[in-house]
Amino acid sequence: MLLPLPLAGAYDYRLPPGDPLPPGTFVEAPLGGRHLLGVVWGEPEGGIDEKKLREVTPLPDAPLLPEVSRDFVDWVARYTVQPPGSVLRMVMSVSEALEPPRPVTAYMRSDLDPEAEGVRLTPARRRVLSVLSDGPPRLATELAREAGVTPGVVKGLLSAGLLDAVQLRPSPPRQPDPDRPGPELSQYQAAAADELLQTLRTGGFSVTLLDGVTGSGKTEVYFEAIAHVLAEGRQVAVMLPEIAMSAQWFARFAERFGAAPATWHSELSRPERRRVWRNVAEGKVKVVVGARSALFLPYADLGLIVIDEEHDASFKQEDGVVYHARDMAVVRAQLGEIPIVLASATPSLETLANADAGRYARLHLPERHGVAELPDVTLVDMRRTPPPRGKWLSPALTEALTETLAAGEQAMLFLNRRGYAPLTLCRACGYRIECPRCTAWLVEHRLAGRLECHHCGHSMRPPPQCPNCEAEGALVACGPGVERVAEEVAALFPEAAIAVMASDTVRGPEAAAELVRQIQDKEIDLLIGTQIMAKGHHFPMLTLVGVIDADLGLAGGDPRAAERTFQMLSQVSGRAGRAERPGRVLLQTYMPEHPVMRAMASGDRERFLAEEKAARQAAKLPPYGRLAALVVSGPNIARVEETARMLALKSPRVDGIDVLGPAPAPLATLRGRHRQRFLVKAGRDVRLQPYIRQWLAAVKVPSGVRIKVDIDPYSFL
Ligand code: ADP
Ligand code: ZN
Repeated sequence: MLLPLPLAGAYDYRLPPGDPLPPGTFVEAPLGGRHLLGVVWGEPEGGIDEKKLREVTPLPDAPLLPEVSRDFVDWVARYTVQPPGSVLRMVMSVSEALEPPRPVTAYMRSDLDPEAEGVRLTPARRRVLSVLSDGPPRLATELAREAGVTPGVVKGLLSAGLLDAVQLRPSPPRQPDPDRPGPELSQYQAAAADELLQTLRTGGFSVTLLDGVTGSGKTEVYFEAIAHVLAEGRQVAVMLPEIAMSAQWFARFAERFGAAPATWHSELSRPERRRVWRNVAEGKVKVVVGARSALFLPYADLGLIVIDEEHDASFKQEDGVVYHARDMAVVRAQLGEIPIVLASATPSLETLANADAGRYARLHLPERHGVAELPDVTLVDMRRTPPPRGKWLSPALTEALTETLAAGEQAMLFLNRRGYAPLTLCRACGYRIECPRCTAWLVEHRLAGRLECHHCGHSMRPPPQCPNCEAEGALVACGPGVERVAEEVAALFPEAAIAVMASDTVRGPEAAAELVRQIQDKEIDLLIGTQIMAKGHHFPMLTLVGVIDADLGLAGGDPRAAERTFQMLSQVSGRAGRAERPGRVLLQTYMPEHPVMRAMASGDRERFLAEEKAARQAAKLPPYGRLAALVVSGPNIARVEETARMLALKSPRVDGIDVLGPAPAPLATLRGRHRQRFLVKAGRDVRLQPYIRQWLAAVKVPSGVRIKVDIDPYSFL
């Protein structure tokens, strides 16, 4: 019996007499004084007196957890060096879904005649009644939405007796229709789609890299694959980064397939999660579009996985079970013997290495769809043509903005930093305002009137005087965030309609969708955004992209810094000139000689990749070597250091495995916890997990100290 808890493994229980319960059965199991939900995992270990075993009770209405889901849990647990119960907990994230679906309350018109009863009918009330006059009973939320009224109007009608409540079984979701015609594919797209469909028809496990420039129609190509799998009646999982910002993607899906897919991400309400989980388990939901956690849904019959923007760093889960959703998705596809498609304009080096080695098939879309061309990229050398003092826009960028706005086109400025300024400094004593709990400066958010820590969320009012020397009026904002750039642009272009798009200014999927609509409808001329703005969007009138600080991602000790900066800049640049009007990109940089900047300016991706691969190969870094990180943390610095010292002493000596550290992490404290890091390095063919397991088993971890295991680390903070 596996319980969704961080226990070493499965526990033995006695099954109730009668029919044997097959593995995958959800059960209620006593543990200590509690009753927990768990899953029948396999044969008992034995060795415990049968009479001492406690008995489980099966949940009568729960679906079965399929074998491939169980294998996946075990696999992920082994790979990430985590207890299988911790992985199972991700599968069982909505325990209510194991109960039978509850009936829902819907409303229909009652027999009461409003006039006879003397009930006042406002226009809003009339609209609700007219919606109900044709068609079936509706949920209160549906009714309000269709009639364009607030939920209060529906409630009012109910208490006036004009509506009757009826109990319904939740209706199955509307199914995407694979037979609707798609757009006519271009020659390249058709060739790629044909090859992909050929792979799907062959069946079994396969990985296909769909490598196409921004705007080449990768989405249309993988939609063909989705249609094929839907026609076979199987399920599809699509993973997108920034799912809450993907309104355009959803609109395209609905247009292509005539129905919305199910979604799975952290902003879903509990009842929605429950509904989706259950429908996925029963095979009633055919397409799930989600964040990385969608991988752990209990698909009844998964037939295809698609990872869009496969290079995106947000597929790495950093808390709890630390895993890379792209890599685990490939494993899930292998276990399920199904195809997986990885799409990107800037594939990760990991994926490219697999394609080079012939493990992944590769499809290429070399040009943008239709008449659109890739934008021209120009480097602005900030050493030679700097902005005016205290400003962030170079003369060249200001001029380009002027021209773009004068032509009636749209522009986007990109800066991957939320807020107004990343640092508040005292001019009198040099004091920097830091987070009390993290090794980090507090970021000023002027719109909100707060100083905030971007690591732990700590927030405070800006102090009136320096907290250190008490000087009055000496605190100054240093460096730019998107709010500050917006302020500068508003002063330069007072006529322009300006919007800021960052995760703290655009809250939730609806607000994001509304902003995207405003940009599409050209109610906004100039957009200032962080990375949430960089992906996927298609704005035909957007012709200029300006990157305020192209060097931002290059500092620090991340071995992938150059690769990631190149990916990010390519992505952002890819927003410009996606339709008839040609686009251009200005990158403000202090390092125009840097290989990333040279590659951006020349458009020579292959050369950059060749150099980057060579550098990684020489340093035996991923994908040509393996890394794992151990992060020791705790509130008590002495204990953390002591544990790190113990770990260093006990690290097993093995040829071909190097252990670096311990060293204080760059983020030396986080949320009040002190942090020490180890980095484990080995060749590609070495498995690090047995080594780490053996290592950890040799050390006793004092209370309050935690050791985080991060296989294939992407964060080095
Ligand atoms: P990518 O994902 O490669 O960046 P998209 O799939 O988003 O590219 O396509 C870019 C734009 O071109 C989208 O607006 C899409 O609707 C349009 N497009 C791509 N292929 C076609 C096609 N075959 N017919 C019509 N429009 C297309
Ligand atoms: Zn903090």
